[in-house]
Amino acid sequence: MSYENLSGRTAVVTGAASGIGESVAVLLAAHGARVALLARRGERLEELAAKIRADGGQALAVVADVTDDASVRAAKERIQEAYGSVDLVVNNAGVMLPHPIDDGRADEWQRMLDTNVAGVLRVIRAFTADLVGAAAEGRTADLVNISSVGAHITFPNYAVYGATKAAVTYLSQSLRGEFGPRDVRVTNIEPGLTATELGSHVGSAELAGELDGMFEGIGGLAAEEVADVIAYVTSRARHVNLRQIMVLPTRQA
Ligand code: NDP
Repeated sequence: MSYENLSGRTAVVTGAASGIGESVAVLLAAHGARVALLARRGERLEELAAKIRADGGQALAVVADVTDDASVRAAKERIQEAYGSVDLVVNNAGVMLPHPIDDGRADEWQRMLDTNVAGVLRVIRAFTADLVGAAAEGRTADLVNISSVGAHITFPNYAVYGATKAAVTYLSQSLRGEFGPRDVRVTNIEPGLTATELGSHVGSAELAGELDGMFEGIGGLAAEEVADVIAYVTSRARHVNLRQIMVLPTRQA
């Protein structure tokens, strides 16, 4: 696979402490991008940054909470000091907290809305000027939002999570109208079942068991396989926009 357009890029990956974000960071760095790693667990990020550097790549661990305005602003300043302006943003941090709607888990609804929707917006706000500026200089500029198959297909008890992902898919579609004319490419990635830590936060034992059953029955994608798609789309020539990709295990498709 050729990823020729990644060398020399400056990337920000949110949710880089595990799963898809970690794999994307490794792959982008392996192909010559400088990668800022954002998440809340600093130790994980430092370990990953050290691994990337040991393999000859460039990475910067930046502790940040996408639900917190000041934290995202501080992260942006730290990245700009270290790396200058950013031209590739992977908006990947997310949480999935399913429950029957009757349980009325307003705390979980708020956390998902704040992370998966408002968090994505905070990161977009922080880096819009960088992306637009990079594109104006003739560089390739990418905004990649990680949505989900759940944006289109409903799963009982996952209504609020699905709604947050539908919002991300809608945002990507809509933002293309604002960014596209300025050569900032917006790509929406919609993974299906992928083996990561996402399911480990499911609070209901019954729903956690159901999810395990799905992995046993269908078999999930590896995080690296989703990362491969993201590296592929961001490494195309800048006038080529693979704008929306649903990537599922074949048995889920
Ligand atoms: P993981 O749980 O492994 O990764 C989620 C990442 O987000 C972690 O690194 C976590 O790090 C970070 N994160 C969570 N909350 C915050 C926050 N408030 N601020 C900053 N970072 C945060 O799961 P995945 O890799 O699977 O998830 C990545 C994305 O993929 C999510 O948006 C998810 O919805 C989406 N997705 C996943 C699918 C799957 O089957 N796995 C299917 C479809 C979509 P930390 O806790 O250290 O902050």
